[in-house]
Amino acid sequence: MEFQRRGVMLVIASPSGAGKSSISRALFGADPNIKLSVSVTTRARRTDEVDGKHYHFIDVPTFKRMQADGELLESAEVHGNFYGTPRAHVEEQLAAGNDILFDIDYQGTLQLYRNSRKDMVTVFILPPSIKELRARLERRAQDSVGTIEKRLQNARDEMDHFHEYDYVIVNEDLEASTQRVRSILVSSRLERDRQLNLSSFVKDLQSQIDSL
Ligand code: 5GP
Repeated sequence: MEFQRRGVMLVIASPSGAGKSSISRALFGADPNIKLSVSVTTRARRTDEVDGKHYHFIDVPTFKRMQADGELLESAEVHGNFYGTPRAHVEEQLAAGNDILFDIDYQGTLQLYRNSRKDMVTVFILPPSIKELRARLERRAQDSVGTIEKRLQNARDEMDHFHEYDYVIVNEDLEASTQRVRSILVSSRLERDRQLNLSSFVKDLQSQIDSL
């Protein structure tokens, strides 16, 4: 039996290249109740990215205006570019009882904690080794060599933040890691406080006993 419930704000964070985007896509593709939060960014679009699907690509003045007008739930500068989460879509989906998946960094996670901690479940993905992390960044081959070095240095700093997350997964195998995140989500949906009609359901069960 499924009760009406509050949506889960599922945050998946990791250093670039640890596999978070692949895990997010796999989760999203398999479950109609999961909606992606599509961020705005001032970063240049990569060739395989689609505007409105991977990001909303915007210029810096538009970003600043959205930030000033309170249209972003959180925002951060990452690798020299601005990123932010549009508020309206998140609020609509949560109200509809859908879960939302966020691919944001630790700065954004800490900002969301301030107002939404009870709705959030956060997962930090680590690469199995730096050799593997570098290989994944190079396979992606969309960033220049200088950018890859910068991302590795940022990965080092980003890893300091693992203790701010509820769960940590070392991503050796995409399928196994996706399954682990799915298990976390399934458990989170069953948290008592997310299930909205439990009291009346239990009362109803009790009254059935009383009338036996
Ligand atoms: P990329 O440029 O590789 O797509 O993303 C770089 C980093 O920015 C990743 O760690 C990603 O999680 C983070 N990021 C993407 N969108 C947002 C956002 O809306 N807010 C924050 N705080 N970080 C984001």
